[in-house]
Amino acid sequence: MSSYTSYHERNYPAFFNGKKLQIVSRHEKHRYIAPPLVAATGLIVESFTEIDTDLLGTFSGEVERTMAPLDCAREKCRLAAAYFSEGYLLASEGSFGPHPAFGLLSAGEEWLLFYDIAEKKEIIVRDVTLDICFRGERLTEETACLSFLEQVGFPRQKVIVKSSQHQPARIIKNLEQTAEVIEAMREMVQQHGDCFIETDMRAMNNPARQRHLLQLGTRLAEKLCSICEQCGWYGFSVTRVERGLPCSWCGSQTDGVLYEVCSCAQCGFEKENYFPKGKQQEDPQFCNQCNP
Ligand SMILES: [Zn+2]
Ligand SMILES: [Zn+2]
Repeated sequence: MSSYTSYHERNYPAFFNGKKLQIVSRHEKHRYIAPPLVAATGLIVESFTEIDTDLLGTFSGEVERTMAPLDCAREKCRLAAAYFSEGYLLASEGSFGPHPAFGLLSAGEEWLLFYDIAEKKEIIVRDVTLDICFRGERLTEETACLSFLEQVGFPRQKVIVKSSQHQPARIIKNLEQTAEVIEAMREMVQQHGDCFIETDMRAMNNPARQRHLLQLGTRLAEKLCSICEQCGWYGFSVTRVERGLPCSWCGSQTDGVLYEVCSCAQCGFEKENYFPKGKQQEDPQFCNQCNP
């Protein structure tokens, strides 16, 4: 008797098993997002590269990003939907900049939009992380350039050399070797009197972003596999939380989560899940009465 579980014995949701999911990207995102999705759902994942996603905006500044990230992911799916009559689409969009709550720190925000072509329904996953590689520096010296490359982890993390940080007249990408980066830098300084080097934020060139996409893929897989007990549809998940977990010392309400509300986008069924963190009372150190 074999000791492994074959794919056929796994209990995949009938929605997805053997169905096709197209990941709309020219930056190899399927390599990072797909593994947890395939393992959990039985979807057959393909990379769909027909849409020039760079036309909607690039990180390096050739095409300015004017749409909000979620709208941009939605637009990628809308364009790709014209090519298919059934199955599923997935687009992602990232943005990098000051953390929404802690402005001094840089953060990466990533959105995944899963689209059911026949049903015209969306499942969305979003996350913010501080684990990013997002830096840029104006430089003219080779030593400064070498030190930048070392700090960002070149060559696994790729870099882009530009004539200036904003509205650059020239951009050099896809540099593989240290010597090529130095050469590009020298050329820029000679021609434009200046040079700006920055981390390439495209998924295939940014290992930190790859880790984040893998995490989001895992969260999306969990969401897809969560089935509504009333109508049997997929994507039953947390849509809001209610705070007010009582303090274990004085009993007053704290900011701790008392319950989450899971809802079904298909039939509207809702269910409250009390004490989602596994504790029924909050530690007094987080209580505004006991520890103001
Ligand atoms: Zn339902
Ligand atoms: Zn208290």
